[in-house]
Amino acid sequence: MKRLNIGILGATGIVGQNYIKLLQNHPWFQIIDVAASPRSANKTYKEAVEQKWQMSIPIPHNLQNLIVRDVQDFDSLSKDIDFVFSAINLPNKEDIKILEFKYAEKGIPVISNNSAHRWTPDVPMIIGEINYEHVNVIPIQQKRRGFKKGFVVVKPNCSLQSYLTPIYALEKAGYKLDKLIITTLQAVSGAGYPGVSSMDMVDNIVPYIDGEEEKTEREPLKILGTVGEEGIVNYDSIKISATCTRVPVIDGHTASVNMHFTDKIPEKDKIITIWKNFKSIPQELDLPFAPTQPIIYLENIDRPQPKKDRDNDKGMAVTVGRLREDNVFDYKFVSLSHNTIRGAAGGAILNAELLVTKGFIK
Ligand code: NAP
Repeated sequence: MKRLNIGILGATGIVGQNYIKLLQNHPWFQIIDVAASPRSANKTYKEAVEQKWQMSIPIPHNLQNLIVRDVQDFDSLSKDIDFVFSAINLPNKEDIKILEFKYAEKGIPVISNNSAHRWTPDVPMIIGEINYEHVNVIPIQQKRRGFKKGFVVVKPNCSLQSYLTPIYALEKAGYKLDKLIITTLQAVSGAGYPGVSSMDMVDNIVPYIDGEEEKTEREPLKILGTVGEEGIVNYDSIKISATCTRVPVIDGHTASVNMHFTDKIPEKDKIITIWKNFKSIPQELDLPFAPTQPIIYLENIDRPQPKKDRDNDKGMAVTVGRLREDNVFDYKFVSLSHNTIRGAAGGAILNAELLVTKGFIK
């Protein structure tokens, strides 16, 4: 198969760097365009990113001399681009919405990490294992907005997959939930580079992340929603209460979750079996970035831990542990996923693979 030509908007940021690392040797995609702010534009990728490169590999040789494009400069965008990943972070979310739709208007599919379009009803917000059928909103979006080949698809907030995948597995098995209390312990890389100051993070926990609790409480409702005539119709049968904190961990968002079932309450062993056996469309299609086992359950009483478990299945698996009865709700557990891989670049690459397989990206 001829590899598709892709661009990365925001290639110099933390998520952008993860794309550069993860897409080395991808069997279907090759990077031919890197774009960022006017500060980086017209520099080589190496010059633009060298001082803030955070990956555990050197900047790939084949990309070092690629000239960084200003994300707003469409004139120098190669005609050969098949689609772009968007990991830009503009101060005003409305500007991101406009920019991403501008790419779509020009016939370029956009797979975005940004939160700007997560609440646009005709923009699907996809976790491959949960709501892959939301890709069927794309023709609605194209028709409503007059896009011919382009479209925008987003992925959710970086902490969501760790707890929503186990919750979804239970819902799918017929055990409906109506209340969740979620407390996240989020890594510093989630704030981008340079992110939170070291003086605020070392020897400390910050019990507030701007906008994060609203995202934790609302985004699952869209993901669990259904495809309607105008876009996604949100699910309204679960109430979520969230507290989001920033902790001194580099990568890996942890969540402590208390869950309440609507009526039928499964046995503890049943829950663990459901999680261990859970597989979905990315596994059935054997996509290159699909984790073999999307939910890994660890029996050890002191796991999951970010340092030991975030890289499970190349950072694409969700690791869960400490399932126990809850005195107020029914059960509680701890979950973990790699925020910049499963929660950002890796999750978006999996979405792109799904879109290629389903014929939306050609
Ligand atoms: P980051 O490290 O701050 O990188 C931001 C990127 O946006 C850089 O490439 C930067 O380019 C570019 N940028 C900044 N201002 C710009 C402007 N005025 N015009 C054009 N480009 C501009 O942020 P990040 O952590 O990679 O996050 C990127 C996006 O992904 C954010 O929306 C974030 O919320 C989302 N996200 C992040 C994570 C995570 O774990 N970090 C997870 C999921 C989603 P320069 O280098 O040229 O300034």
